Amino acid sequence: MLYTLRQIVQEVSAAANLDEALSVIVTRVKEALNVDVCSVYLTSDEDGDYVLMATDGLNPESVGQARLAIGEGIVGLVGERQEPVNLETASGHPRFRYFPEMGEEPYEAFLGVPVIHFRRVMGVLVVQQTNDRLFDKDEVAFMVTVAAQLAGVIAEVSSGTAMNRLLEERAQTNTFIRGRRGAPGVTIGTAALATVASDLMAVPDREAGDVAEEEKSFRNAVSETRDELRRNRERMEAALPPDAQAVFDAYLMLLDEGSLINDTIGRIQQGQWAPAALRDTIGEQSAVFEQMNDRYLRARAEDIRGIGRRLLSRLQQENQSARDYPERCILVGEEVSVARIAEVPVERLAGIVCLKGSVYSHTAVLARALGIPAVMGVGSLPLEHLDGARIVVDGYQGRVFIRPSATIVEEFERLVERDERLAEQLSEFRDLPAETPDGVRMHLYANTGFFSDIKPALNSGAEGIGLYRTEFTFMVRESFPGEDEQAQIYRRVLETVAPRPVTMRTLDIGGDKPLTYFPIEEDNPFLGWRGIRVTLDHPEIFLTQLRAMLRAARGLDNMRILLPMVSAVSEVDEALALIDRAWQELRESGEAPARKPPLGVMIEVPSAIYIIPALARRVDFIAVGTNDLTQYLLAVDRNNPRVADLYDPLHPSVIHAVRQVVQGVQTHGLPVSVCGEMAGTPGGALLLLGMGADTLSSAAPAIPRVKWVIRKFTRARAAELLDEVLRLEGPGEVHALLDMALREAGLGELLAEEV
Ligand code: PEP
Ligand code: MG
Repeated sequence: MLYTLRQIVQEVSAAANLDEALSVIVTRVKEALNVDVCSVYLTSDEDGDYVLMATDGLNPESVGQARLAIGEGIVGLVGERQEPVNLETASGHPRFRYFPEMGEEPYEAFLGVPVIHFRRVMGVLVVQQTNDRLFDKDEVAFMVTVAAQLAGVIAEVSSGTAMNRLLEERAQTNTFIRGRRGAPGVTIGTAALATVASDLMAVPDREAGDVAEEEKSFRNAVSETRDELRRNRERMEAALPPDAQAVFDAYLMLLDEGSLINDTIGRIQQGQWAPAALRDTIGEQSAVFEQMNDRYLRARAEDIRGIGRRLLSRLQQENQSARDYPERCILVGEEVSVARIAEVPVERLAGIVCLKGSVYSHTAVLARALGIPAVMGVGSLPLEHLDGARIVVDGYQGRVFIRPSATIVEEFERLVERDERLAEQLSEFRDLPAETPDGVRMHLYANTGFFSDIKPALNSGAEGIGLYRTEFTFMVRESFPGEDEQAQIYRRVLETVAPRPVTMRTLDIGGDKPLTYFPIEEDNPFLGWRGIRVTLDHPEIFLTQLRAMLRAARGLDNMRILLPMVSAVSEVDEALALIDRAWQELRESGEAPARKPPLGVMIEVPSAIYIIPALARRVDFIAVGTNDLTQYLLAVDRNNPRVADLYDPLHPSVIHAVRQVVQGVQTHGLPVSVCGEMAGTPGGALLLLGMGADTLSSAAPAIPRVKWVIRKFTRARAAELLDEVLRLEGPGEVHALLDMALREAGLGELLAEEV
């Protein structure tokens, strides 16, 4: 049975559409269990009825026609109980119903198992037989396994198939694809595909329009990459250890070797466009090395893929520069990288739809910073058909409408207007202080990582930049930016914000923030080489950044330095030593600022909570990163849509932990700010006010909303609410209590904004 099972799964996975997948299931299961009938009923999206979608044994004409309402018949019972129903004589069961129109003989034996995907009953898989038969334990287990294995496949194929049908028919529709809320807001626009920069495997097949042009652009990419590598090698020669330099040599050698170039050109000449020709050559050549026994030779497979990514990003740059983004551009992709977002002119970017990820992925964090609606974790979409389609993104409810009907468009236009009215109302608070009715002054700062983002942030009423994510600068480049380049970038930021302060965080890569030119491959990236762990292991990268920051701050004195992902005191000591070294070096060359900038650490790993006294003795301020703190406390990957429902910064454990940090830091007389997304939600801000946090730093568009909350609630009332919340047991109760308090205070309009 195990063999049959594997075979079924394989065949279903290979099916081109849902009908084919279902037909494989019913035929194979019927054979395997030696029954008279096998059928699949799927739950209809509109009314929840069970619709007969495939059968081997019943009247084929009733497929798509026969339906059972929820709770009707024994099939309905299976769905209701969400467990198998195994009956020797079905006709004796009170829920038995006979459907002669389905070609039902009086079948007696019945075994039905629910098909469940992420707690949702997607349908029921049924086998029936004329004579009495009680299916044994192994047979029931077989059906349960088939249903469980197939639920995901059915979900994937069915959404793909539904989409394909939709797109083929060019139908205008009211139906939507469900994803996860990424960033609040609704928008209507035109889809533009955002393939992952340099993800070779995501390159689609395409015919070369003009073979000679394709060949030329590939040859250009090779020569530009070669020049760039030579330049980088020279620039980094002094700073990089020999093994890292060897990577440059290996890449250069590959570009001089004939086969990579010749094979790719051969494929172009056969009619493929350059990116796909490159994809196939890299795939073929890396596979050869991967199979070798020698470790050194096996490692060359990674070199080949590395050079492939570089060449591809060159080719993409060429294609991109020619690319015209639609006026209201909705970037749609498996992953929508920071680099891709940065490419679209800000005034054109209207929304983001991401097949992977969840609300606390960095793509969503960035979308919120830019004030752009986003839906994450949509699962599967036939991306190749989507370019240019009209799309509605509903970031409040995590829905995406593709080619929406006129009614849907009208409905969403109304929502857009409602949001505009609210934004206008909120703009009244822009120049007012974030002060509670009992005179407590809260400081509201903005989180950002792009220069273009700074002016809008200050316009939204931010008193400074509470978190400048320097890694974004690194993520949109092709190689590590040098010291001068970094110093210029940081200087521009500090100058624009001065005299207001900027908290610059040192490089926080790893996790879901990759650099294409410094790939980190790990099974558990969020528990791996991230943030300060990487920079301490690469003092040459860290020192370059620190020197650039210190040089940039000269004469402005509005910079604070923040260390990410600190989990041990020794990390702070090592970082302090490196900061000191950078400072001394600059003093010697006369480039240091007048005073050393204040230093802070982020509390975003649970272990840091318990060493606050030791940390507080070493630094000048503390910033709580609730995004990561939530993920590590709750053991929920912030990027994984499967567990996204478990991720909640308003989980009582997170609230207790944040309160402990705020109290702990204040005992040591240090200022404490909160810069995770929690600080930008009305409910989160309310609790943080109650805890006594001094500063909240959030996505800029959230600032007026948070200010409204602060101006409505006294700290005393917020502290009372916090006390009540701390007695609650689950996040649902916390949300309900805070929503009620906000509504009572007349702030109900803000609730649609909650992420
Ligand atoms: C955090 O973890 O809360 C944080 C602010 O940092 P990031 O979201 O960039 O990881
Ligand atoms: Mg973090």
